Amino acid sequence: MSNSGEGVRLPKRPVQILSVKDNTTHIVRFLGDYKGHMMHHVPRLGSWPCLGASCPISTHRHRSVWKGFGPAEEFFTELNAWYLCVIEVTEALDESLRGFPMRGQTWLLTHPRPTDKQTPVMGMFLQHDDPAALRPAFDVGPVLERVYRGVKMDLGCANPVPPRIVDEGESDSGPAQLQAERREPPKPATEEQWAQLRKMIGKDPRVGNDGQHTGQRQINGKAAHHG
Ligand SMILES: [Zn+2]
Repeated sequence: MSNSGEGVRLPKRPVQILSVKDNTTHIVRFLGDYKGHMMHHVPRLGSWPCLGASCPISTHRHRSVWKGFGPAEEFFTELNAWYLCVIEVTEALDESLRGFPMRGQTWLLTHPRPTDKQTPVMGMFLQHDDPAALRPAFDVGPVLERVYRGVKMDLGCANPVPPRIVDEGESDSGPAQLQAERREPPKPATEEQWAQLRKMIGKDPRVGNDGQHTGQRQINGKAAHHG
């Protein structure tokens, strides 16, 4: 998918971790599957890798979340170019992606303005590009090691959050009271409303041109002693 054209010189960019921040949207194409690690939310440090048995107590006591990391490309619309990145997959995003071979999958990833701290990263599938036409997948380890100051992460941890429980719903006409309300015919006009209408048009609107009462009158079902 090299469409930058012959002779176009693109600026160089360091390969970084792409984590989808609040109010941002990214177009991301996976070059390979992502793999996970448990991370701690440490004040000032942000997310920090858990080191398992050798994890310092001061770090290990913090709340932990799972994060996946995978080789990917981000599309820069202003440059019309794909650049390598390490995509950070959150627990919530993993629910949309898990179980599929990722190479070639292009997604729009967005993090809406949070109404609370639980707003998840959301993904929309865009297209599946031919895996054979893409740049090779790369080892994300060196990029992570640089960001996490030499920590070698063991990327082999599955997302511990159990899958979302989904209900498909069951068709039904609902409670009897609700059905009775639906079946009730439109209410006939009150005598007061008829009187107002008569005043406006100068005759009883319920009486047709041939002198017969209209259908409206039949529904009303009251004796017509007016006019
Ligand atoms: Zn730990």
